[in-house]
Amino acid sequence: MKIKRVRTKMCHECQQEKQTLYRVRQSADAPWQFVCKVCLLPIRTGNPSYQYGGTWKSKKRH
Ligand SMILES: [Zn+2]
Repeated sequence: MKIKRVRTKMCHECQQEKQTLYRVRQSADAPWQFVCKVCLLPIRTGNPSYQYGGTWKSKKRH
């Protein structure tokens, strides 16, 4: 039996381990943060300076 390793990252906002995170920053001066889908919404909503830098997933395609 193979043990599958699930790689996770911690959401910057809710501090929970997630398998899919979104790389965002709240303004051009702010540092990049990884947040989950739930936490992405309030950051994105009503924030014209929000920037999206890609999606991080635990499963990588080769
Ligand atoms: Zn979160």
